[in-house]
Amino acid sequence: MITHFEPSISYEGDPCTVSSQLELEEALRLYEINKDSELLIHVFPCIPEKPGMPCPGEDKSIYRRGARRWRKLYYASGHAFQAKRFNRRAHCAICTDRIWGLGRQGYKCINCKLLVHKKCHKLVTVECGRQVIQVLKIKTRERAQLTREKRRSLGLADFDLLRVIGRGSYAKVLLVRLKKTERIYAMKVVKKELVNDDEDIDWVQTEKHVFEQASNHPFLVGLHSCFQTESRLFFVIEYVNGGDLMFHMQRQRKLPEEHARFYSAEISLALNYLHERGIIYRDLKLDNVLLESEGHIKLTDYGMCKEGLRPGDTTSTFCGTPNYIAPEILRGEDYGFSVDWWALGVLMFEMMAGRSPFDIVGSSDNPDQNTEDYLFQVILEKQIRIPRSLSVKAASVLKGFLNKDPKERLGCHPQTGFADIMGHPFFRNVDWELMEQKQVVPPFKPNISGEFGLDNFDAQFTNEPIQLTPDDDDVVKKIDQSEFEGFEYINPLLMSAEECV
Ligand code: ATP
Ligand code: MG
Repeated sequence: MITHFEPSISYEGDPCTVSSQLELEEALRLYEINKDSELLIHVFPCIPEKPGMPCPGEDKSIYRRGARRWRKLYYASGHAFQAKRFNRRAHCAICTDRIWGLGRQGYKCINCKLLVHKKCHKLVTVECGRQVIQVLKIKTRERAQLTREKRRSLGLADFDLLRVIGRGSYAKVLLVRLKKTERIYAMKVVKKELVNDDEDIDWVQTEKHVFEQASNHPFLVGLHSCFQTESRLFFVIEYVNGGDLMFHMQRQRKLPEEHARFYSAEISLALNYLHERGIIYRDLKLDNVLLESEGHIKLTDYGMCKEGLRPGDTTSTFCGTPNYIAPEILRGEDYGFSVDWWALGVLMFEMMAGRSPFDIVGSSDNPDQNTEDYLFQVILEKQIRIPRSLSVKAASVLKGFLNKDPKERLGCHPQTGFADIMGHPFFRNVDWELMEQKQVVPPFKPNISGEFGLDNFDAQFTNEPIQLTPDDDDVVKKIDQSEFEGFEYINPLLMSAEECV
């Protein structure tokens, strides 16, 4: 028996609760009269506290989903090659010349690690599986060098591991204390086996570079240090104790436009800072926007970034978090900074509507409509309906960012892009100068309770055991350590600040 169901878009565009057959018929009648293109009905076995609020046990329409890269493989003689950038010591197995320079000029087989030039890979006649020994020899030499480098940098023993605070598809994030100074940091831990398996391991270097640059901006999480063990990479970064926007959205369901304006303005400034430095962020989503203790935002997670873009340059990797991927990526087009402004549109929609613009996906009984391909089809084709409860300016800014054509999208004009955003009616009252200087008072101050503000992190994570699992020898043996050479780093600015204390 249906005891409660909820068309999530009512006559006025707001969620409403329907609890009897009569009300259901009325809802259907209004839907017919209004010639609405859709009526979204969520059926629950009980009644939510308020219309639109989740029921106990309800699947949340807003939930955590990991970012992904889709690997591109090139096949020849049984090898599965991936494009890579190599250090100078790499030689092509075909023509024996060095493989180095700018761009991703080399191919490496993900199985036997054979290295060749892109231009030579079609000439490979040796079947896959015969070249491993050569690579292993290089490895032992590099391991010795690794140990020398490690001595100069920090290590796991320098930190107390306090708690698990988050997890994504690549990393586990811990709350830690640097023993020497007793300062608190977040520590992002990535398993090397995940990196090694990836198409494009440049992302480790990129994540580090972007963290380094981020240390200079108020709305980006900065880097303290990096080090590695045989099995893992560690990024020691600023700890942001107010929780992420996903955590807050799951509690508040939707935000007043004024709040969404504040967050999106600070996020825009952070994105623009990255774009000005040739970096596409590529993973804007609720879980990557953190709130610091006063309520200002900080973006974290640079694992999906693309760096080194000059104005007008484009890239083509198919990556991101499915719900936020821009249509041009799905169409397989070359793309630039436009994908970040699309993702901001999705995120602003989620803040103001309390649901994703594409949340029909995953909530259907038809299994064909719960797939990623269906989600992508919806992103590409479905006209986005903006809830009628939103103001005209809010609707206009959402339509601006969620334009499926990157050339027409708000923020994407090659010369006036960012000025167009700043001048948009939705942001009219924003003082961008004050905003950038963190002088605008945030609309919401996170409640910093529990030790170190740990109440702002999901118990799902904070209840996890803190230990890192011991290294598995078989796994470690397969890791190509040369990929991680030179990863060690200590931020000179932060360290000298610490020594002054
Ligand atoms: P993704 O699946 O998006 O690629 P990831 O594996 O790269 O994620 P992160 O997004 O960096 O991992 O971190 C996972 C979670 O940990 C975040 O959603 C956030 O809740 C928490 N977190 C990350 N960095 C910090 C930080 N500096 N301070 C506090 N919490 C953080
Ligand atoms: Mg993340």
